[in-house]
Amino acid sequence: MLSIHNIHAAIEGKEILKGINLEVKAGEVHAIMGPNGSGKSTLASVLAGREEYEVTDGSITFLGKNMLELSPEDRAREGLFLAFQYPVEIPGVSTTNFIKTAVNEKRKYHGLEPLDAVAFLKLMKEKMQLVEIDKALLTRSVNEGFSGGEKKKNEIFQMAMLEPKLTILDETDSGLDIDALRIVASGVNKLRSSENAIIVITHYQRLLDYLQPDFVHVLYNGRIVKSGTKDLALTLEDQGYDYIKEAFGATA
Ligand code: ADP
Ligand code: MG
Ligand code: MG
Repeated sequence: MLSIHNIHAAIEGKEILKGINLEVKAGEVHAIMGPNGSGKSTLASVLAGREEYEVTDGSITFLGKNMLELSPEDRAREGLFLAFQYPVEIPGVSTTNFIKTAVNEKRKYHGLEPLDAVAFLKLMKEKMQLVEIDKALLTRSVNEGFSGGEKKKNEIFQMAMLEPKLTILDETDSGLDIDALRIVASGVNKLRSSENAIIVITHYQRLLDYLQPDFVHVLYNGRIVKSGTKDLALTLEDQGYDYIKEAFGATA
């Protein structure tokens, strides 16, 4: 599904990613961990196609296409979903209309007719039940005045509606309370399938306990320095990142 080969990326002339390699297949959940400032969010931004980030070397293939040639919008329409670390608020646009536009743009891209009002409502109802989101939230402006937990619910609901092939969740270093973690975890667990894949960037061992990722990678100083199964997350929890820094500090 996703094949990242030797990606180097810079921002404002400073190289942040120094040769990232990662293979993600359908049905897999990958966790990316690593100390602050390692480049985790930069990797998510490069995958999303944010233009501030300059890819200086390497390649990314997504569903057989050269991802680096796709606009951010087309990446989304191809099936990439990136949950933003800091969700934007869009006053005056209801969450429902926002999602409807996104769903129909994606359908159009794939040569499908837009969903009519009845079909859209049916889909909404089905997904609302699945992710247990309150209807009242969806009539409000996108993220405006939402609590942290409500933003997470909204994010998971968008994911449910868009049925992405690849989801990237970049969880902030702080600020996710236990409820929000649970919302993310249970939503992701309900939405994971053999057809889609998920990359979750997180510091939270607890989130990984709920999610049970297939693979855990440690990103340090712009490189993936260690990969393993979920046991690696337990080792990190136990030992902290110091042993990673000691082992890779000199060479990274
Ligand atoms: P992480 O998500 O692992 O904490 P980031 O990808 O956010 O790390 O940051 C990696 C490095 O890139 C840090 O040194 C950070 O200061 C730098 N960086 C990130 N975004 C910018 C930016 N917009 N301008 C300049 N430097 C940035
Ligand atoms: Mg950070
Ligand atoms: Mg980050």
